[in-house]
Amino acid sequence: MTVKVPTFPTSELCVQCGGMCCRYGSGLFLPRDVPGPRPLTVESLREFCRERKTVVYAEYIYGYYSKPQLMLRPRQADACTLDQCVHLTASGCALGDLRPTGCKSLEVIRADRCVQRMGTSGDGVFAARSWRRYQPQLRELAKEDGFSW
Ligand code: SF4
Ligand code: SF4
Repeated sequence: MTVKVPTFPTSELCVQCGGMCCRYGSGLFLPRDVPGPRPLTVESLREFCRERKTVVYAEYIYGYYSKPQLMLRPRQADACTLDQCVHLTASGCALGDLRPTGCKSLEVIRADRCVQRMGTSGDGVFAARSWRRYQPQLRELAKEDGFSW
């Protein structure tokens, strides 16, 4: 599939690349991406997941946390393999400016190399810290989807 990525930061390299980051995964949302009053509730997170085709994702962050840390990311076409994000279309990201902070923070260094720049301690750690207070709510949502962490 030839993919244009017009909603990415203006980068000819992204257009040439064809959205590799979206074709083999999806970026992480942070709590600040979720609209509505604070603190976020199970209901507001559930609604956000429904609207943005998003699921609870568990990441093992060795050396920082003994348990997997729960976060949100857009669904992938096949959750069991490195598959493409459900928001990837032939004309780019269907979410546009509503795409995850993790997607917006990708910085292209050169044609075959880009990095995420969400936080100085590494993106997984930064995202895990951001979602820390919402672990009970995310666990509840994961249970509804048949997962238990
Ligand atoms: S951010 Fe990187 S992986 Fe994603 S489309 Fe641009 S160059 Fe490709
Ligand atoms: S939300 Fe958009 S930018 Fe992020 S991985 Fe999916 S298609 Fe790519």
